Amino acid sequence: MEARLRCPRCGYRAKSGSRCPACGFPLVLEPPGRLKIEVREPSMWRYGSAIGVAKGVSLGEGMTPMRSVGGVLVKDESRNPTGSFMDRGSAVLASAYPGDRAALPFMEDFTVSIATYLSARGVSVEVHVDPAEATYADFILLAASPSVSIRFRRAGPFDLEYGDPYFLAGVKTIAYEIFESARRIDSVAVPLERGLLALAVHQGFRELEEWGLMEAPRLILATHRGAVSSDIALWLREKGARIEEVEPAEAAKAAVYLARRGIYAKPLSAMAYVAASSEKNAAAVVTGTGLRRLGFTGRRRGGELQRRILGVLSGREMTAYQIWEALGGAASLRGVYKALATLVARGSVTYRYKARGRKKIRVFSAPKGIDKNE
Ligand SMILES: [Zn+2]
Repeated sequence: MEARLRCPRCGYRAKSGSRCPACGFPLVLEPPGRLKIEVREPSMWRYGSAIGVAKGVSLGEGMTPMRSVGGVLVKDESRNPTGSFMDRGSAVLASAYPGDRAALPFMEDFTVSIATYLSARGVSVEVHVDPAEATYADFILLAASPSVSIRFRRAGPFDLEYGDPYFLAGVKTIAYEIFESARRIDSVAVPLERGLLALAVHQGFRELEEWGLMEAPRLILATHRGAVSSDIALWLREKGARIEEVEPAEAAKAAVYLARRGIYAKPLSAMAYVAASSEKNAAAVVTGTGLRRLGFTGRRRGGELQRRILGVLSGREMTAYQIWEALGGAASLRGVYKALATLVARGSVTYRYKARGRKKIRVFSAPKGIDKNE
């Protein structure tokens, strides 16, 4: 497929690459057509008409909940399969990736996410790690994956990078989902680190505006006080975004407030929440900490998933995979396994082994009459 890449800053058009050869700004992938929502597709691939890449791999990313928390609509991106908005980008990037091997730099959330998606596609992944830089938990998680090999050096060039135009084309679906929620939203606060998340969300809203579907809400870019603004942030400010610097103490308070409500926000995401809370009709894009990946999912979420599993399983025998499919992307497969383990330990679900061909499979069942509200 011939890529239609464009530099949002100077308008340069390109067929490949990730940075504008003329001005160095990140390139974006032009949508192949107007947004047409496939309402029966329970993932962000419902926006396939405007993404520009055919679905090659999906783990149920996107369609994250939007919850009203203390007067702010929180777009809870921690509900993606590996716990962050990165999964949207990774799904598109991995779908478009033509090779069967990929060398990646170690970049925490990004690497965990893209390695998960590439592995699901059958691509062997090599992650180049500088042991002094690696966050230990993410590194161990990657190392445990059979399709990932770890190299203890940092040597480019890499096959895939954070901020690739295909990656941004997945991330922009956050804007589409905010549009599809049909709520009145005047401003959207986004955590600002390198600025790529903000750029992708801006791009999504700009497209919706061009198609005459909505008036783009104002972007608020939340960041640390005194943080140096990237050229992306400065460009977005020219386009009407506001940069809001948030005190770490305020962000910490917000992080605690959100955690008590089952949302485990990264510090910058807590800043986005703070920035949104001084506005009317505002939403905040909140991306998760690694806690969810490590299985710290909190009571509220676990209980909800367990109830849904009992609902699906009522009177039937199913494998964990079938349960996961029946839930239609509402949880990760890993999450389903975890919830099943809890239900088995509690006696709400039983299992037995069955033979399928030469393989032994485990089928779960829930005795009828179990209180689903347990
Ligand atoms: Zn340019």
